[in-house]
Amino acid sequence: MCGIVGYIGNKSASDILLKGLKRLEYRGYDSAGICTIENDKLITTKCKGKVSDLESRLNKSIHRGSTGIGHTRWATHGKPNQKNAHPHSDISGQISLIHNGIIENQHTLKEFLKRQGVAFKSETDSEVLVQFIAYIYRTQELDFFESVRIALGEVVGAYGILVINKNEPDKIVAAKMGSPLIIGLGDGENYIGSDISAIMEYTRNIFYLDDGEVAEITTDGYKVNHIQHDNDVIKEIKKIENTLEKIEKGNYKHFMLKEIFEQPFSTQESIRGRIDSQNNAKLGGVHDYLQDILDKKYIYITACGTSWHAAQIGSYILEKVLKKPVKVEYASEFRYRCNHIDSDTLLIAISQSGETADTLAAVKNAKERGA
Ligand code: GLU
Repeated sequence: MCGIVGYIGNKSASDILLKGLKRLEYRGYDSAGICTIENDKLITTKCKGKVSDLESRLNKSIHRGSTGIGHTRWATHGKPNQKNAHPHSDISGQISLIHNGIIENQHTLKEFLKRQGVAFKSETDSEVLVQFIAYIYRTQELDFFESVRIALGEVVGAYGILVINKNEPDKIVAAKMGSPLIIGLGDGENYIGSDISAIMEYTRNIFYLDDGEVAEITTDGYKVNHIQHDNDVIKEIKKIENTLEKIEKGNYKHFMLKEIFEQPFSTQESIRGRIDSQNNAKLGGVHDYLQDILDKKYIYITACGTSWHAAQIGSYILEKVLKKPVKVEYASEFRYRCNHIDSDTLLIAISQSGETADTLAAVKNAKERGA
């Protein structure tokens, strides 16, 4: 699940963004990036891989700005690589955006923009969105906030976005439809996160953006409007009294109980922003292998422990949808039991850490046999 962090104030934004992204790492992602505004210039650093990879590439001497946005991506449109990593900027390098979710009418918008001479650098739907916002900003002589609001009126899809503009460096514009966004209010500084854990170290006063709302956040204030009918929205500020551990553990006695009882919620949260208005899911990774999943004769899922339980549930769903047998095998048993492995086999391996030795051995074994 992707992550969003934003900061506007008087401290170094890059430090706060990196810390926030690290707190969101547990959600899983494939690339990371930040953009800060320094002397009316957008400075962007992004890469495939971990937040620690981003950190080692980051030149703090150029990322000195105190307004910035940061993102961890879970790809839906385009490969997980540096070019497709967020933030994305428009063709003139004036506006930068991070996005969680999917833009459903990106093809129509992209074709329209191409006819206006706009060239694209990435394969993402998110770049289409920033280019479209910039197009409205350039052509309609509106201020930045209004350009974002008007552009979103034409957009179909799920999004949590943060947008910055080097010509209006005193604000971050945020908007939500589907993916969560929380605004944290500080003293002469404000924060935005897709999850409370990204910002609660700095402030206890927060409000949630609701679907269909767009907000302008400055160092010492904010305003919120409806995207469609432009009315002001009054938000209720909440004070968080609990510690992070208490918030994370809720009223459960143990984390294990919480994990068990929160499965419906966790599933919903991680899939939010991945379901289009026709109720189709677009899952990065799965989507890329759709044809294999449909075509292969044998499907095996291998895993250990809790992942093996997940595999069992997955096999019920896959069998029902695909109408062919899906076999689950314990990873440590895989090489001894699964005899039908060949090039007509698809093996799905599940591992929480990505490093489970038996699961890795099963993958290696299956590949050697042509799967
Ligand atoms: N659809 C966007 C992309 O593929 C956003 C992915 C995300 O939610 O991280 O880049």
